[in-house]
Amino acid sequence: MSKRIVIALGGNALGSTLNEQMTAVKETSKAIADLIEAGHEVVVTHGNGPQVGMINEAMGALHDIKPEKYGNMPLSVCVAMSQAYIGYDLQNALREELAGRGINKPVATVITQVVVDENDKGFKNPTKPIGRYLSDKEIAECKEAGIPIMEDAGRGVRKVVASPHPTDIVEIDAVKALIKENNVVITCGGGGIPVIKQDKHYKGVPAVIDKDFASAVLAQKLDADSLIILTAVEKAAINFGKPNQQDLDSLTIEQAEKYIDEGHFAKGSMLPKIQAALEFVKSGSGKTAIITLLEKAKAGIEGKTGTRIIS
Ligand code: ADP
Ligand code: MG
Repeated sequence: MSKRIVIALGGNALGSTLNEQMTAVKETSKAIADLIEAGHEVVVTHGNGPQVGMINEAMGALHDIKPEKYGNMPLSVCVAMSQAYIGYDLQNALREELAGRGINKPVATVITQVVVDENDKGFKNPTKPIGRYLSDKEIAECKEAGIPIMEDAGRGVRKVVASPHPTDIVEIDAVKALIKENNVVITCGGGGIPVIKQDKHYKGVPAVIDKDFASAVLAQKLDADSLIILTAVEKAAINFGKPNQQDLDSLTIEQAEKYIDEGHFAKGSMLPKIQAALEFVKSGSGKTAIITLLEKAKAGIEGKTGTRIIS
């Protein structure tokens, strides 16, 4: 049965450097093409943590070299750059993969603005890790300069930025029109360019929206059947990383909420995925969210693996 599926790609689908991305998007495109070949209508979103961190750092270095010429690049503009940079590689790789399978479908990236509330408490409390893992020296420098950093799910320390909650997608009608015309659309990259609405104007704000939450809003707006969050683990787990770790096959809304309360899912990594899955599943009947590995996307949709969140 053909489904409308929103696919949210995690960091491992894209790699962290230019070369890694060129290679990674080829494998990623195979996983996406598997679902298209199976007859599903797919819409693709992706994260941008390492990429937006890299762009932000590069633009900061440029500013340091010639401050009189190059002002500080707003973080919202860095997100826009990351959407274009990732979308460019991903749309080309996906079009080639589809063509290789004899599937003639246009693929297009939409630069997307996502609306947040200017009073969102996320602005006061940065939670979203971006960029590289920092060395001990860099950690000390950040502490000295008062730059917010955090431990990222036991893997190292990274800079953190505000991550307000998405409420709306400015270009949603353009996305719908492209889908209607048979396009595979890549949208809401990096959670979308964060903007606040000021009358008729959308103003960029210094934040990075979690792509998992933006994907949930997108999946709701498109009335998708499934939201599949592809990441670096096959299943979400309770007691993650402990000797009694237990991988989860399926979760009801109540079970998921209980495990969240018990603190089983790390902030800034698994927690937003579970929360986004819950938001989507609660938004209508018969909706399923799946969290699994990139290369298991098709098996996940077929119910063979991954963690399913159902109402
Ligand atoms: P992505 O780039 O796909 O968004 P993240 O690093 O943000 O990936 O989140 C996925 C990571 O969350 C996993 O690789 C794992 O290290 C971590 N994680 C934290 N808590 C859990 C948990 N309870 N179950 C499984 N993975 C978890
Ligand atoms: Mg993440």
